[in-house]
Amino acid sequence: MIYFDNSATTFPSDRVRSAVSDMMADGLSGNPGSLHKLGVAADKAYAQTQANVARLLGASDSEIIFTSCATESANTAIRGFLSRNTRAGKRVISTRTEHKATLECLALLEKSGYDVIYLPVGRDGKPVLSELEKALTEDKTALLCFTLVNNETGSVLPVEQIVALRNKLSPDTKFYLDAVQALGKMPVDLHKLNVDMCSFSGHKIHSVKGTGVLYLKNGVRIDPLILGGGQQKGMRSGTQSLLLAKAFEAALEEALETMDASHADIARINGFLRKELVARNAVILSPEDALPNVLNVSFEGFESETMLHCLEMYDIYVSTVSACSSKAKKVSYVLLESGVDRKTAANAVRLSFSRYNTMEEAEEFIRKVDEIYDTFAVRK
Ligand code: PLP
Repeated sequence: MIYFDNSATTFPSDRVRSAVSDMMADGLSGNPGSLHKLGVAADKAYAQTQANVARLLGASDSEIIFTSCATESANTAIRGFLSRNTRAGKRVISTRTEHKATLECLALLEKSGYDVIYLPVGRDGKPVLSELEKALTEDKTALLCFTLVNNETGSVLPVEQIVALRNKLSPDTKFYLDAVQALGKMPVDLHKLNVDMCSFSGHKIHSVKGTGVLYLKNGVRIDPLILGGGQQKGMRSGTQSLLLAKAFEAALEEALETMDASHADIARINGFLRKELVARNAVILSPEDALPNVLNVSFEGFESETMLHCLEMYDIYVSTVSACSSKAKKVSYVLLESGVDRKTAANAVRLSFSRYNTMEEAEEFIRKVDEIYDTFAVRK
């Protein structure tokens, strides 16, 4: 099998599997809220895990909340912040190329009277900064919502420039950042980034599904999405899962330890595929300066889904539009918003790599593309 769909999800690494199976083998893990020694031990272990994850992300212990996924983190941050801070205004700035986890929150806010400004994005997928400057000076803005690495194209947000503009033009405006596809693939140091809220997902970095994190900068107040027993300082009620927290921690440690080496390997794979695919008249839709983990490519003469299933017959896995919205037959809104024409976008396939992919797989992928072209008698 060649798995080139790592932006959709990844398989759990050996270290994550051991962390999970060790905990399962231990049997009872106490409820961190219990007063007896089993509870105290679980509470201590949970706090240690939280502290380690915070350290690895460049945050303070009190700024890390474990969630079930990045979608929950996004909902908690965006909806929770605006619900709590009504005086911050009813204006939000974002783009239409965000993940659905953000876009659906914004659509709901619009229904309840919020004014959402969607900045145009260039062919490189980046928001047009002169438009952001204008939008930040026009009126009081409560919140910015942007994504550090786009899940469909790998386009990287100029986050430092956006933070600088926010600081200069509208310092009270808060910044929510989706860093799901950036984590473990490029440096993410939360205090240096100087954003206010940030979401992460474990299953994109070889943890198990069900593991997410929300960074909530000290001093940023939100209304929690999940109410109940007041766990995690009331920000996310529900009995804490030490198992899931440990799985996230193990995945994050490993991703950061291997990041530099895997970045270089993945860049080589990406470079090779770009060259070989262009030689076969495919159109590369990821920008030149995209994160190499994602390569969006359009195969002329093949609708996205046709190519996906052709490759699947060889046990090669890729995706069409992002997995979270790909059940209905759709053309990628991210590509259309970035100015890609509908026909080219309709033939787009996303390849996404992890540290487990190899150059041999990339070479095999090209051989199979050639076979598919030959089968369909497509001109190379
Ligand atoms: N944000 C981005 C950029 C993503 O790629 C995804 C998942 O595809 C999400 C958010 C949602 O993550 P989760 O599956 O953890 O809810």
